[in-house]
Amino acid sequence: MTASSSSGAGPPPRIFARTPRNLAPILDAGTSQLLKRLTHETFASFAHKFLPTPAWKRYSHEIAALLGFHFALVSLLRDGGTVGESLYWIAREDLLLKPKSSSAGGARRRLKLACLAALVHVAGPYLDNKLAQLREEAEEWLSVQAQIEASEQQQGRDEDRRAFSGYTSPAAVEFRLFSLERVKRALLSGLVRTYPVAKFLCGLQDVFSRVRFTAGLSSHATLEHWLVEMPVSRLSHREWDAQNKLRGALRREALSGLMEARAGGPAWRRWAAVKLLRGRHFVEDYNKLLLAAFALSCKALEWWYSRGEEAAKAASTRGKNLPPPPAPEPDRENGLKLPNSPKLCPICRRMKQDPTVLTVTGYVFCYNCIMLHVKEHRKCPITCVEATEAHVRKLYFT
Ligand SMILES: [Zn+2]
Repeated sequence: MTASSSSGAGPPPRIFARTPRNLAPILDAGTSQLLKRLTHETFASFAHKFLPTPAWKRYSHEIAALLGFHFALVSLLRDGGTVGESLYWIAREDLLLKPKSSSAGGARRRLKLACLAALVHVAGPYLDNKLAQLREEAEEWLSVQAQIEASEQQQGRDEDRRAFSGYTSPAAVEFRLFSLERVKRALLSGLVRTYPVAKFLCGLQDVFSRVRFTAGLSSHATLEHWLVEMPVSRLSHREWDAQNKLRGALRREALSGLMEARAGGPAWRRWAAVKLLRGRHFVEDYNKLLLAAFALSCKALEWWYSRGEEAAKAASTRGKNLPPPPAPEPDRENGLKLPNSPKLCPICRRMKQDPTVLTVTGYVFCYNCIMLHVKEHRKCPITCVEATEAHVRKLYFT
């Protein structure tokens, strides 16, 4: 994995030389997908064993982004490219090691550039995930609101038919125009509409950058490189080797510099500083292996805990796979039609207040709606099965 190839000289195989640099972004996308899956799904299957609250799941995108930032930064500092790029010996020209990199100013500038590059590298997938999630939630919210509005209009029409009053105060209309609800709706529907367009445009710009780069018209291989204004180049075998040698020399220099600086101080501090520097070099050298080890250990933990859970489940059902209870059949002629969203009450067609189940059929309504209905009609409003007040039970989400 650590591509330090001191053995064998000469150019790399031609296939590598001709391999489109576009393979690196695919590998990087794979890395960020892997981290997202690990934190969002794999980790979820065993995290509840040690974490008392599921709150971390809300931040799983952030955790994945932080991990991605760490692995990208370490790789950029060591090899000048992200994890995927360094596998193809692709490096940002500004981040390549130079003999003067050992000076404090040079090192600080390099660290700043690497941080910026890692930030931009991680921001893309993070924003994409976050916006996709937000868009999904916004779509659901809008559809629920639309259904509520439709049922309110229907009710309004019914009431109008009964008692027509032509007067609506202009103040009331204006208030509705500027209500918070409307602003929220406008923002969310804007997000739902613009997100696919923005994503498409970013993709187009990315493809455009790649085509220009392949044609030799630009030194920015992808949208990401174009954003951070960092030209990239693919290192030859010799250049890669030279970078490795230079890194070794710079490390030895840093180590001896450290020993000198700490020569007067207490021995334990010198020992700790040296261990810290060696630890940093270790993390740099085994970055890809650590990433792989992290992924494997997460997978292993998931497997371990899921096996335990399966065993517990098997023991509790004594080897039988119980079928789900039969679904109650709605009465299509006399019963109410179910609303499209499960969040709405079938009787009042609004968000369920005090969700309450009618135990004979299993449908859930507002407490008030179902209690009044059962008192009056003595049956389930959807299936028309006989029911009494004793069948009305509060739902406990434990
Ligand atoms: Zn209701």
